[in-house]
Amino acid sequence: MRAVSWHGKEDIRVETFPDPQIVNPRDAIVKVSLTAICGSDLHLYTGRIPTMQTGDILGHEFMGEVVAVGHEVTNLKIGDRVVVPFTIACGGCYFCKHDLWSLCDNSNPNAWMVEKLYGHSPSGLFGYSHMLGGYAGGQAEYVRVPFADVGPITVPEGLSDEQVLFLSDIFPTGYMAAENCQIREGDTVAVWGCGPVGLFAIWSAYKLGAGKVIAIDRFPERLKLAREYCKAKTLNYEEVDVFTMLQELTGGRGPDSCIDAVGSEAHGTTLDAWYDLAAEKLMLETDRGHVLRQVIHSCRKGGTISIPGVYGGFLDKVPIGAAFGKGLQLRMGQTHVHRYLPRLLEFIREGELDPSFLITHRSSLEQAADMYRIFEQKQDECIKVVLQT
Ligand code: NAD
Ligand code: ZN
Repeated sequence: MRAVSWHGKEDIRVETFPDPQIVNPRDAIVKVSLTAICGSDLHLYTGRIPTMQTGDILGHEFMGEVVAVGHEVTNLKIGDRVVVPFTIACGGCYFCKHDLWSLCDNSNPNAWMVEKLYGHSPSGLFGYSHMLGGYAGGQAEYVRVPFADVGPITVPEGLSDEQVLFLSDIFPTGYMAAENCQIREGDTVAVWGCGPVGLFAIWSAYKLGAGKVIAIDRFPERLKLAREYCKAKTLNYEEVDVFTMLQELTGGRGPDSCIDAVGSEAHGTTLDAWYDLAAEKLMLETDRGHVLRQVIHSCRKGGTISIPGVYGGFLDKVPIGAAFGKGLQLRMGQTHVHRYLPRLLEFIREGELDPSFLITHRSSLEQAADMYRIFEQKQDECIKVVLQT
C-alpha cells in the first residue's frame, strides 16, 4: 500500500509499505477513503515530538471501509463505513469505564517511556511516535485499528466523507474544549487560535449557551471564517492589544472562560524545552506558554481556562500564582473522542453543522509533502487539508 511517512524535520515522503494484517482478535483493517492533516501533525513535522523513527506512517484523522475484522469484533462487519477516533482505547480499564477514554491504561505498550521522563502514562494514538504506542497512522491506504470493537463509529447513509471525517478528532476536540468551560447561558468565551480546533470550539461554545464568543488570531481568512461562519467577534492580535480589548469588551471584568486552542508552538513564542529520547538530552529553547499566560491574565476572576492546545514537558512558565489568586479552574488534556461521537454525529445528521465548512485544500495522498508544507506555513489561505486515497 501507499502511505505518508516521516523521515525527519520537514521531510515527509509517500512510500510503499506492506499492507497491515490482523494481529489481534480485536483488530479491524480499514481501507482509508479520506484522511486529514492536523495541527498536531505539525508538531511531528517540525521535529518536536521525540521517538519518531524514519519510515513511521503518519496520520490520526481518518475514515474508510472495514475490509477485515478479528474474530472478537462483533459490532463491525466487512463493508461498514466507519470513522475512527484518534485516541486508542480498550474500553475495559478503569479510565475507559469512567468515560475518560483518552487516558486508557491498556492502549500504549510504550507508556513507560513517558512515565519515566514526565511522570504520566498516556494512551496510544495513531501515527504519533513510539512513546505514544508506535501505531502506524491513517495517512495511508490501509490501517490496522486495534480495539475495533470499541472505537470506530459506523456512518449512516446519506452523509459524505467530508461531513463526518472530523469526528475522528477536531470536532470532538473543539466540543470538549467548550464543554470544559462549563458555560452558563449568556457567558462570554474567548478563544485563542482560529485553526480547525478553535473554529469548532467557537461553534460549540455557542451551542452550549455562550452569549458572545471572541476569537483571536492573525490570519485574515481564519478570522473571516470565525466571524462569518461561526459568528464570533474577532480580534487580530497583531493589530490590537488582546488583553486590553478583552477587558473593554467585558466591562473591565474579563471573559468568563478562555480557550487556548493554540498550544506550545504559538506564534511569538521563543521558549521551548523537551527531552529528546533519541538524543538522550534535554533540548532547550526559550519562552513557550505564551498564549497560556495571556489566557490566564485575561480571564475574569473565578473563571475557567480550557486548554485543548497541546503542551508537553516542563518549563512552560505558567503564572500559577495569578491562576491561584484569581480562583481559576484549569481544564485540559487529550480529547475523550469516544465520549462525544454519538452526540456529535447526531448534530451533523440533524443538519446543525456541516463540519466540512473549514476544508480549503483537497488533495491526493501522493501530494502529502506539499500539503504539509502549505498547511504548516499557512500558505494559500490554508485552513484544513484533506487527502483522498
Ligand atoms: P492550527 O495550527 O491550524 O491552528 C492554530 C492557530 O493558532 C493558527 O490559526 C495560528 O495562527 C493561531 N495562533 C498562533 N499563535 C497565536 C497567538 N499567539 N495568539 C492567537 N492565535 C495564535 O492547529 P489546529 O489543528 O487548530 O490545532 C490547534 C492546537 O490543538 C494544536 O496545538 C494541536 O496540537 C491541538 N490539538 C489538541 C487535541 C487534543 O486532543 N487536545 C486534538 C487536536 C489538536
Ligand atoms: Zn488531530
